[in-house]
Amino acid sequence: MSGNWQPFERSWHDTEVVNCDVCGRLIPTRAWVFDGGEGQLRACSPECEELYFSYVVPRHGETPGGRR
Ligand SMILES: [Zn+2]
Repeated sequence: MSGNWQPFERSWHDTEVVNCDVCGRLIPTRAWVFDGGEGQLRACSPECEELYFSYVVPRHGETPGGRR
């Protein structure tokens, strides 16, 4: 675990929608921010950080350049 919770500082008229970078779910009030290796990612929970490193990264490594 390397991330931390970061609440959104947004005004009442801010309609920006933030989605989890791992599972794509809508993040309502605070994001779990962690270093994904190539930059910071915003996830909906620490579980998604685990999911990212146990599933997304290994799969991505199997097909270098294949997802571009
Ligand atoms: Zn998520």
